Amino acid sequence: MKVLVLNCGSSSLKYQLFDMTDESVLAKGLVEKIGLEGSLLTHRPKDQEKKVINADIPSHAKAIQMVLDALTDKEHGVISSVKEIDAVGHRTIHGGDTFTESTLIDDKVIAELERLVPLAPLHNPPSILGIKACQEIMPGIPQVGVFDTAFHQTMPESSYLYGLPYEYYEKYGIRRYGFHGTSHRFVSHRVAEIIGKPMSELKIITCHLGNGSSIAAIDGGKVMDTTMGFTPLEGLIMGTRSGNVDPAIIKFIMEKEGKTIDEVDELLNKKSGFLGISGISSDLRDIEEAAQKGNHRAQLALDMFYQRVRRFIGAFAAQINGVDVIVFTAGIGENSIEMREAVCSNLTFLGLEFDSEANKVRGQEREISKPSSKVRVFVIPTNEELMIARDTAALVK
Ligand code: ADP
Repeated sequence: MKVLVLNCGSSSLKYQLFDMTDESVLAKGLVEKIGLEGSLLTHRPKDQEKKVINADIPSHAKAIQMVLDALTDKEHGVISSVKEIDAVGHRTIHGGDTFTESTLIDDKVIAELERLVPLAPLHNPPSILGIKACQEIMPGIPQVGVFDTAFHQTMPESSYLYGLPYEYYEKYGIRRYGFHGTSHRFVSHRVAEIIGKPMSELKIITCHLGNGSSIAAIDGGKVMDTTMGFTPLEGLIMGTRSGNVDPAIIKFIMEKEGKTIDEVDELLNKKSGFLGISGISSDLRDIEEAAQKGNHRAQLALDMFYQRVRRFIGAFAAQINGVDVIVFTAGIGENSIEMREAVCSNLTFLGLEFDSEANKVRGQEREISKPSSKVRVFVIPTNEELMIARDTAALVK
């Protein structure tokens, strides 16, 4: 079975074509600047040179048509006809509290996704565009929605509700949803497989640390809490997002700086976090480099990040009454040796014995705690696209 995985953003589209017989990637690529000047497609077929195609790409429908053309091209294609694609899996950011697992898409599902747009005004509309374009261009080929929020739907009310008047939850669905669910699910299942125990017997804390970062507490296979909330702004300090702040600060900044609510929203989402604290960059590599050269604010951004990662690990261990395994994943989690060392060497109270030698690894699966450690720690590269392809294949079968 061949599954095409699509991740549609507002002006971009990422794709991977999987051959599910061995879960290999036949081709992957990226369409950039959809609807803008200078749009292009970068296509990377397996074992071949990448191919860059510059073209006018005014819509997601055109982008998807170009992806299909590239996949079936005589020279750099990997399949002979679109008919070889058995199903399409869509990364969909927000499934509200309707979608608790991946779902075969029909008109009712699309209507529900449209109803959920107010919860994810930036992220859900491009997914819907992608789904509709596929229906048009590839009629009859089943499509599956895989939701970033779905894995977190097991959270108890006590975790997902805010201390706001209850009617706002009832009227508008204001609650914590959590994001990166596909990644938290992938790495937690993978670590259980490595350890050789069923999820039902494990307490796992998964740390997805990238440009956007979130941590999840998973007890017996169920997410009990996660750091992101109503939107991905809550929780940890991130590349450009503030993470948790006292909400009273918003009114204070608006008054002091004469800013509008939209400007403060932009400040919290795009100008805060590593970028805002360091004044240098949103990229952790740049921050680590500057800190090594003695830049105080870069070092401060790192220290603040480490402190918050530890804070949530500690809080979540208390919440699920223990932790057997901690997993680090995504760009920072998989690659930052310094971050893992700083976070884990200060968790000795949990009985965690860190292995600094084993920790010298980037982007590879490895256990980084000592054999005698009460809490096992792993680096597990995430693979959201593969998880989407697996869910899609399972639902279509
Ligand atoms: P996204 O949320 O956009 O998918 P990623 O998961 O790719 O983000 O993570 C991007 C982050 O990972 C950036 O802050 C980047 O600096 C960091 N990162 C990538 N490689 C390294 C590395 N070798 N050392 C430290 N940080 C890294």
